[in-house]
Amino acid sequence: MKKSRFHSKTVRRHTGFVPLPSGEGAGVGKNRSGRSGLTPPLSPPLAGRGTRIGRPAVFLDRDGTLINERGYLSDPRKIVFYPGVFAALRRLRKAGYALVILTNQSGVARGYLTLEKLKAINRYFLRAFARRGVRIDGIYFCPHLPDARCACRKPKPTLALRAARDLGIDLKRSFVIGDQWTDMKLSANLGVPGVLVMTGAGRSVRRKAGPFAAKITSHLRTAVGWVLSRPRFR
Ligand SMILES: [Mg+2]
Ligand SMILES: [Zn+2]
Repeated sequence: MKKSRFHSKTVRRHTGFVPLPSGEGAGVGKNRSGRSGLTPPLSPPLAGRGTRIGRPAVFLDRDGTLINERGYLSDPRKIVFYPGVFAALRRLRKAGYALVILTNQSGVARGYLTLEKLKAINRYFLRAFARRGVRIDGIYFCPHLPDARCACRKPKPTLALRAARDLGIDLKRSFVIGDQWTDMKLSANLGVPGVLVMTGAGRSVRRKAGPFAAKITSHLRTAVGWVLSRPRFR
């Protein structure tokens, strides 16, 4: 049942997706039809195009957006969540948004942490959120170097499009929240509004990232407030 959630081995080698182990409530083992297996086929995912079926999502950056930016995180004990993160994400869930973390983790390619370590950190993440009543639908990561010309590193839309396909997400009603230029450029590539937060690198990239942002705000909590203040159907 969980197996079918994964993409072909070839794809998985290049891009990470970490579902929560069954029984821990990540909700990634079943599709909306209630049957296990792949989500119903959607039209080919293209940047800027949504499928009217499916839920809206908020694509969340990790470092500098949800947690303190700490260089290349390799130890879950060093994770420090920003204040208000859990309550903010609970609000999004309540409003019907899927929650997807998209993260560039070049520390893997740089040898600062192994892929296994990163996956362990991701599992820790999902559990930490689940314990506080927040179900994260998926964590998608790029483990490659910035200059590796891979297909998945943000701001390329690949990870988001994969999540949209896996989880039945309606891109047209979705948002991106992040602290980097890459996050805002990603939002532009997807054709969805991006919210730049001033935590993490936010302040230092404001000039460069601002033009791609639909909204600039102080932190995740206010970003979520803005998302929820938008018209529900665009
Ligand atoms: Mg970041
Ligand atoms: Zn990549």
